[in-house]
Amino acid sequence: MNDCVFCKIVKGEIPSHKVYEDDDVLAFLDISQVTKGHTLVIPKVHYDNFLATPKEVMHKVMDVAQRIGQAQMLRLGAKGVNILTNVNKEAGQSVFHFHVHVIPRYEKQEGFKIEMKENNNLKDLSLPVLAQEISKELK
Ligand code: 5GP
Ligand code: ZN
Repeated sequence: MNDCVFCKIVKGEIPSHKVYEDDDVLAFLDISQVTKGHTLVIPKVHYDNFLATPKEVMHKVMDVAQRIGQAQMLRLGAKGVNILTNVNKEAGQSVFHFHVHVIPRYEKQEGFKIEMKENNNLKDLSLPVLAQEISKELK
């Protein structure tokens, strides 16, 4: 992908602050630090997002994400970590090269917040029907 910013980082055409690198995976600091140590983990080969990434590659990326979260707890004094990947613009994805955010958490008031609120418009949903609909695809 010629105009993909993360492919350019892999090729060294754009500088980055590397945290980890092996043959398949690269991790570097996010240019916009939402908390201290906010890191991105990517496959070196371009895939558009998590869902479009072959399992074997995705597993390698998630393995590194786990290790970076552990390192943030041990080395940066983080008290928690959010591991997050956005798929498509509707979910907030802005760079369309699969990446996992590893976001160390120190206290409640930071530059990052996830809020899950019950949606009152969905009160009439049938959970059994919904569960069945998703599970059909997994058989
Ligand atoms: P998304 O919104 O796609 O989940 O996350 C993309 C992330 O990539 C953003 O947090 C953004 O700050 C980061 N980002 C975009 N361009 C660059 C860059 O050139 N270098 C680095 N290190 N991070 C970048
Ligand atoms: Zn790319």
